[in-house]
Amino acid sequence: MGRLMRAVVTGGMSGLGAAAAARLRADGVEVLTLDLAAGADLQADVSDAGAVRAAAERVGAVQILVNSAGIVGPSAPLWEIPPADWERVFAVNVRGTFNTCQAFVPAMIAGGFGRIVNIASIAGKDGNPNMSPYSASKAAVIGLTKSLGKELATTGVLANTIAPAVIDTPMNAATDPAALAHITGLIPMKRVGRAEEVAELIAWLASDKMTFSTGAVYDISGGRATY
Ligand code: NAD
Repeated sequence: MGRLMRAVVTGGMSGLGAAAAARLRADGVEVLTLDLAAGADLQADVSDAGAVRAAAERVGAVQILVNSAGIVGPSAPLWEIPPADWERVFAVNVRGTFNTCQAFVPAMIAGGFGRIVNIASIAGKDGNPNMSPYSASKAAVIGLTKSLGKELATTGVLANTIAPAVIDTPMNAATDPAALAHITGLIPMKRVGRAEEVAELIAWLASDKMTFSTGAVYDISGGRATY
């Protein structure tokens, strides 16, 4: 990578966030993890705007923001979803992404350079059955990123989103096995992805080698995505 960079990776203590953090470190990036889990560089709940703002004030300017903190929520048809679960999935996946972008983007604009990578999901494009809060929240992350990417287009700050299919991470331990089997069966490559494969894409989108995309959705789905 051509310049010295600092990154905040939300959800950086597990799965895709941890793989992205390791991959960015291998590129020479100074990475701060922001996670609910103990041991994070910044222990905070992304859904708590005040906590995210306080974390941003502590670390100062960063050039890279990877939003990987997320939850699946319940596996059930929409009419059986407890409204509080719907709210929580949106609080973490959507409001969390909004909170961190709001807290970290102004310093990126001031510095004239930034890369934001929001982790959505193929669920946000296709709509997975029995995952309506998750699917709707990831569609919201895609929409948020499309708006933000255009707003930032002339600032040197580029914001993109990725839409992975099933990836082998601890998150899937919490997914209903029948739902997991269904979504794995939709992958033409007939296997789940590895976190390291996704981290490669994140690292490129977070780098100064990526210069002509903003507000874009990158699929990483073993062939599942059709649009
Ligand atoms: P994971 O459960 O392994 O890791 C998620 C991390 O986010 C954990 O470290 C957890 O502590 C943290 N986190 C959860 N809620 C938080 C909160 N409120 N504040 C701060 N940190 C919080 O999951 P993963 O598989 O690595 O998923 C990462 C992202 O990728 C998520 O947004 C997920 O929706 C998305 N995704 C995952 C898959 C997959 O199959 N694993 C597929 C598509 C998209």
